[in-house]
Amino acid sequence: MTLHIRTPLLHSLPMSARLGKTVWLKLEALQPSGSFKLRGVGHACLTHADRGARRFVSSSGGNAGVAVAYCGRMLRIPVTVVVPETTSARALELLRLEGAEVIVHGQSWAEANALAQSMLDEHTAFIHPFDDPLLWTGHASLVDEVAEAGVRPDAVVLSVGGGGLLSGVAEGMHRQGWDDVPIVAAETHGTASLARSLEAEAVVELPAVTGIATSLAAKRPATEAVAWSRRRPIASVEVSDREAVVAALQLLTDHRLLVEPACGAALAAVEKHPAALADAKEILIVVCGGVVATLAQLQEWEGTLT
Ligand SMILES: *Cc1c(COP(=O)(O)O)cnc(C)c1O
Repeated sequence: MTLHIRTPLLHSLPMSARLGKTVWLKLEALQPSGSFKLRGVGHACLTHADRGARRFVSSSGGNAGVAVAYCGRMLRIPVTVVVPETTSARALELLRLEGAEVIVHGQSWAEANALAQSMLDEHTAFIHPFDDPLLWTGHASLVDEVAEAGVRPDAVVLSVGGGGLLSGVAEGMHRQGWDDVPIVAAETHGTASLARSLEAEAVVELPAVTGIATSLAAKRPATEAVAWSRRRPIASVEVSDREAVVAALQLLTDHRLLVEPACGAALAAVEKHPAALADAKEILIVVCGGVVATLAQLQEWEGTLT
């Protein structure tokens, strides 16, 4: 049993024509919770449910929290999400629509997370947004689906926040014997904790994360994500917030699909960093999705960001 669905793999004619390459889009935006997070979170929730968990707790006001809430609803297991006061009304509404108990606490994520941690007991499972081997194993399933479709790309492009998606995709690619296929890891300038870590060849914590790509806003990447850079080729690229927004709007024009700037970062990387993909004829982009941004907000950002 899985809680995620098998997503379409789309040959993007508009992107292929612009880039002069074959571009494949893995449409994780179509997961029922709106992002790839459901793969890993679903696997983690099923595993904890098997071990007897009677409640799930999350401290994510973004796509991870929505995925945990979705899984709880499907498994009929209560979910509590603790989020800081800065969480948008839209995110609160999405969590409540999924039936989660939402507790708004503290000025920062750290305060909300501390309360969430204090709620744990032997029957309660905490679901981390990116740093857990159960998540990576769940995310890896997206690579299996691409391989089963008969596609073997020359490069895989994805967005990086805490590096859970990266770790899972690398795990899946390892299983498929794709360790020689480079991963292009996209971040925005204000969230480039993996870029700084790869430069330093060690996990680097940013003093602060900035910008609109809030789903990428981990101050430090998971150790596992940095460890993969010693086992396989990973190229790090950065884009601006504006480039991420424009790429998200371009996807809407090309394929009628709305995603967050966090996802736009991977799409922008392909258009703005051709050198990272010079050797690749076939490119796979993980269209990771995101439920928090709206069309009105993307258009407002496009008008105001420079
Ligand atoms: C969580 C998320 C990311 C980043 O994933 P990590 O596993 O934290 O690197 C990127 N895009 C979207 C839409 C997300 O929800």
